[in-house]
Amino acid sequence: MLFDCGEGTQYQLMRAGTKRGKLNTILITHLHGDHYYGLPGLLSSLSLNQREHPLTIFGPRGIARYVDFVLNFPRRHHQTFEVNVEEIDTGFSGLLRETKEYRILTEPLVHRLPTQGYRVEEKPRLGVFDATKADDLGVPFGPERGQLLRGESITLADGRVITPDDLVGPPKAGQSFAYCTDTTLCLGAKRLAKNAGLLIHESTYSDEFHHLAQERMHATIREAAAVARAAGAKQFIATHFSTRYDREKIKDLEREGQEIYPDLIMAQDLMTVDF
Ligand SMILES: [Zn+2]
Ligand SMILES: [Zn+2]
Repeated sequence: MLFDCGEGTQYQLMRAGTKRGKLNTILITHLHGDHYYGLPGLLSSLSLNQREHPLTIFGPRGIARYVDFVLNFPRRHHQTFEVNVEEIDTGFSGLLRETKEYRILTEPLVHRLPTQGYRVEEKPRLGVFDATKADDLGVPFGPERGQLLRGESITLADGRVITPDDLVGPPKAGQSFAYCTDTTLCLGAKRLAKNAGLLIHESTYSDEFHHLAQERMHATIREAAAVARAAGAKQFIATHFSTRYDREKIKDLEREGQEIYPDLIMAQDLMTVDF
C-alpha cells in the first residue's frame, strides 16, 4: 500500500529498494499537488514494466477524473493492467475494504479541500503452532494440524484427544496504522489514531505560526502530538513540515512536540520504522 503519491515518489521507491510491482493499493488523501502529482509517472512506469495485476486507487471525489485523464492523454494508452479507482464521498466515515487479513477504514479530516485520513488494521493472527510438541505427541503431518490451528480438537488413531490448547499459543493481536494529513486538529484523526500501533500525523507548524495553521487548515506539531497522546497511539511520526524549518529550526519544532509526546519521531526521507 502506498499512502499519497507526491512528486518524486517513484524515484524514492527506487532509492528505497521497494518493488513497485508489489504495490496493489494507493490511498490518496486529497487533491493538493504535494499528495498526488507523482501518479502520472508511477502509473506509466508500472505499465512499461508490463505489470499485469490490477491496481486500486482510493481517493476523494475528482481522483477518478484525474486518473482517467492521465491514462488517456493525449490518446488512450495501451494499459497492461487494470486501474480501479474508488472515489470516497465527501465526509464518508467507515470501512473501505475488508479481507481475511486486514481492513481499511477512513474518516474525513478538516482541510481546505475534501480530505480523508486512513487506518489499516490487521486482524488478529493465529497463535503459533508448537511443531516440536506436536511431533512428540504423535500428531501426523496432515489436515489434523490445520484443524488444531483453526481451534478444533482432533482424535488420534489410538483414541487420544488433542485439543488446540495443547499445541497452539494465544492469538496475536493485529497491528494498526493511521495516516492523517493534511488536517487541522480534528475528531476524524483522533478516531483513526485510537490505540494505533503507529500514527503518522501532519505537523506543519510550530506554535509561533499557530495563526497560519488555522488559516491554512494545517496542524501545529503540538496539536498533532496531542492527538497521538489522547488517542493512545503507541508510536507517532510527525511529518509534512513547512519548508521554513531548516536543519536547525526543525530541532525547535521537535522540542515543542516532545513536550506533549516525548518519544515522537520526526519523519525523514527513506526512513524505515517497525511497529
Ligand atoms: Zn493540503
Ligand atoms: Zn500537503
